[in-house]
Amino acid sequence: MNTDKDRAEEQKSRSQESGEKKKKMPLSKLRRFVLLGIIILFLLQFLKIKVLVGGLSGSLAVWFVKLIDIFAYFESLIASKDFTLTAFLAVLPIIGIYLVFGRAFCGWVCPMDFLFEIVDGFKNWSKVKVKASPKIGYVIAAALLITSGLIGVPFFTNYFSHLTNFFRFITGGVFFALDLPFEPSVLAYSGGIIVLLLVVEYIFPRTWCRVLCPVGKTYGLFNKISLIRLKFREGACGECNLCDQVCYMNVKIARHIDRSSLRDTNCIYCGRCAEGCETKGKLVKIKLGR
Ligand code: SF4
Ligand code: SF4
Repeated sequence: MNTDKDRAEEQKSRSQESGEKKKKMPLSKLRRFVLLGIIILFLLQFLKIKVLVGGLSGSLAVWFVKLIDIFAYFESLIASKDFTLTAFLAVLPIIGIYLVFGRAFCGWVCPMDFLFEIVDGFKNWSKVKVKASPKIGYVIAAALLITSGLIGVPFFTNYFSHLTNFFRFITGGVFFALDLPFEPSVLAYSGGIIVLLLVVEYIFPRTWCRVLCPVGKTYGLFNKISLIRLKFREGACGECNLCDQVCYMNVKIARHIDRSSLRDTNCIYCGRCAEGCETKGKLVKIKLGR
């Protein structure tokens, strides 16, 4: 029989639980705040507040910490054929971050994921589902690295990278708005690359991210060893299959639900499966740790 003390404790834990529920921000919103925060930190450089200077391919954080994206690092290394300690020390913190967070870069930091989500929201009459193997991306990444070595220039990072072009476009736009000197051809080229990717997204939803993008592919490799993972609660699955349907990275979650957790190279830890499931976050959780 329940004593008064038991009842009081039960009541307390229930109110704590409902308090937590009230306080928790949906992941879909939280990750947009994270992205917005990062973009604002970059924009502050134009007000001479140098918390993050440069862009996501390469930046200077808090005045002195050099950071370089992992794929950009390997492209530069192969292109220059010159190992420098400075560049190596710039890639180490990024490796450290993604040993913890895996491909969460794609779902939480990359601006293209946000722009693609807007495009995905348009009523789409011409959706073409591409059934290409995500492994093709590794072949493309290798080809880009070889090309960089042959021409002596980081080919993808310099010319086609969405990260480089997104920040070049923003910089050009800010200079244009402030009536400062800027190169119109650079602004037009960078804008053109971003628009091209948006058109590709419109016609072939998520093919760029799932199959082609060398930056995402590199971070995806970290998913296998990183601390982050999808964790499933045993016995909570009602077989609604909504997790599979909402995952635009085509991760087959339902197939793995009887395991305790999943690390898939294509998972970007966006949390759509957790929120889209009929259990509303009770079955699938994003967890850190072994
Ligand atoms: S796959 Fe590439 S474009 Fe897509 S979210 Fe990741 S880094 Fe961005
Ligand atoms: S499995 Fe879930 S968290 Fe991973 S990409 Fe798909 S919807 Fe997002």
